[in-house]
Amino acid sequence: MNIAIDGPAGAGKSTIAKRVAKELGSVYIDTGAMYRALGLYMLQHGIAPSDEAGVLAALPLVDISLAYTDGTQHVILNGEDVSHLIRTEEVSSAASVISSYPLVREKLVELQQKLAAKTPSVMDGRDIGTVVLPDAELKIYLTASPETRAERRYKELVEKAGGEAISLTVEEIADDIRTRDERDMNRAASPLRQAEDAVCIDSSFLTIDEVTAQILRLAAERSGKS
Ligand code: C5P
Repeated sequence: MNIAIDGPAGAGKSTIAKRVAKELGSVYIDTGAMYRALGLYMLQHGIAPSDEAGVLAALPLVDISLAYTDGTQHVILNGEDVSHLIRTEEVSSAASVISSYPLVREKLVELQQKLAAKTPSVMDGRDIGTVVLPDAELKIYLTASPETRAERRYKELVEKAGGEAISLTVEEIADDIRTRDERDMNRAASPLRQAEDAVCIDSSFLTIDEVTAQILRLAAERSGKS
C-alpha cells in the first residue's frame, strides 16, 4: 500500500510519515528533501534560485537519490550525503523557489514515482496525492493553524540548537511559512491542494500519537484489515 501525505510547511508531515512508515514496515520517502538537495546544489554553484534559465541549464548535471541506513533516509547529491546541509532557512527558501519550475518537478516526480513503484511507501510532500501517486490507497491532507506550525518550527530549531537562543523569532518563522505556503498554493505547476479523495486531518490540537493512530486506523480500513 502507498500512502500519500500532503500539506503546508510545518504541519508535522515528516514526523507523522516516519512514524506511520515504521509501524507499517513501509519506506518513508521525504520528497521535500529532494527539492532541498536541488536547491542546495544551486546555492553551492552560485546559481540564483530565481534564475529559472540557470536552474534548468544545471538540471542535467544533478543526480539525486535516496539511501537508507537503519531505516533513516539520506539524500545523496551527486554521490555525496547532504542530509545534514539541507535544513537551513536558506535552503528552504531555495527549494521553495525552484520547486515552481515545471521541468524541476518533472525530474523529481519521475524519481518519486519510480521509488514508490518498487516498494510500499509513505511519501510526504505537496503534490503526492494529486500528481505523484494519484492512485495511492490512502491520501492524507495534514494541516494545522499557521500559529501552531510556527510555534512547532520554533521549538524544533531551539531543540536543534541544544536549547540555546536562536536568531529567528516566532514571527519571522511565521512570515517564512506564510511566504512558502503562498508560493506552494499559487504556483501554476502542481500547486499544493487537497486531493478530492484525501482525508483532511487538522493536527493543531492533536498529539503525534493521536494523528499516527488515526492514519493507521484508516490504513487498516483501506487494506481490509479492520
Ligand atoms: O517539505 P519541505 O519543507 O522539506 O519542502 C521544501 C520545499 O520543497 C517546499 O517549501 C515546497 O516548495 C517544495 N516541495 C514541493 N513539492 C513536494 C515537496 C516539497 O514543491 N512534493
